[in-house]
Amino acid sequence: MSEKNYIHPASWWEPCADGKVKCRLCPHGCVISNGHTGFCAVRENRDGELFSISYGRPVAVHVDPIEKKPLARFMPGTSTFSFGTFGCNLGCLFCQNDSLSRGKYESPGNYDFVTPERIVELAQSYKSQSISFTYNEPTVFAEYAIDVAKLAIDAKLPRVLVSNGYITREAANDFYPLIDAANIDMKGFSEDFYREMTSSHLQPALDSIKYLYTLGKHIEITTLIIPNKNDSIEMLNNWLDWVEQNLDKTVPLHFSAYHPCYKYTAPATPRETLLAIRSQAQSRGFNEVFLGNI
Ligand code: SF4
Repeated sequence: MSEKNYIHPASWWEPCADGKVKCRLCPHGCVISNGHTGFCAVRENRDGELFSISYGRPVAVHVDPIEKKPLARFMPGTSTFSFGTFGCNLGCLFCQNDSLSRGKYESPGNYDFVTPERIVELAQSYKSQSISFTYNEPTVFAEYAIDVAKLAIDAKLPRVLVSNGYITREAANDFYPLIDAANIDMKGFSEDFYREMTSSHLQPALDSIKYLYTLGKHIEITTLIIPNKNDSIEMLNNWLDWVEQNLDKTVPLHFSAYHPCYKYTAPATPRETLLAIRSQAQSRGFNEVFLGNI
C-alpha cells in the first residue's frame, strides 16, 4: 500500500460478534459493523479490525497566536503550530465549525499523508513555540496526536490540546500525560444540556478536566454561551461551585458568544449576557475570567 493510501491501525478497541468491533476511545463506545465508521466518522471497521482514517490526514493547518486557542495564561505572546482533521465525537446542534467536525474522508487516498515527523518539522520551520491539536476534536485522531506529541517532546516543543474532554480514562491515560496545556470545552453545566444539545454526557467532560488538573497540566476552560440554554446565573453558580470544589479559583475561565451556525438558528448571544456572567464570577472571587467573540 502506498503512503497515500496508508490507513493506521486504531488503538483502544475490541472485537465483537459477527465481525463487529467496539471502539473504546470515547464514552460513546460505538459498536461498528464491517465497512462502517463510528459516530465520529473517522474510525472504520475493515474486515473486523478498527482503523483510524484521520491518522496523517490533517485538513486544517495554521500558525496561530496561542491566545486564539484560547489560552490566556500559557506562553503568552507566542505562536503555536496548529492542526486538525475531519471528525468529531459530539453532535453539538450549535457547532461553530461543522465543515471540519462533520467532514468526511470520502476517499482517504485523495488526501496528502503527513507523517508525525513532518508535523514537527513544519512546526520548527515556522519557528512555532508549541504544537496544538485543535480545530476539530483531537480525541478522534488521538493515535496521530500521540505520535506527534512523542516527537514534539524530543524536539522540546510544548504540546497543547483543545478538546471537549469526551474521552475514556483508558485513552486519556495514554494521551493526557503527553500534553502541557489544555483548553477544555465545558458545554453547559447540566446533563440535560449535554444530552439535548450535544448528544453526549456531562460527567466524562468533568472527569477529564479533573484528571488534567490532577496531572498538574496547565488548564483553561471555555463555555460557549447560548441564550436561554446555558446562560442562567443559577447554572453559572453551579459551575463555579464545581470549579471551586474540584479545581481552584485561579483556573482561567473563558465565556464566548455563540453565533447561529449548523442546526441552531437562535439569535447570537448578547454582549450584556457575557458581561453579566463575568461580573457574577468576579463577585465570587474568580478573577481569571475572559470573554470571547464580543
Ligand atoms: S471515538 Fe468515534 S468511533 Fe470511537 S467510540 Fe467515540 S464516536 Fe465512536
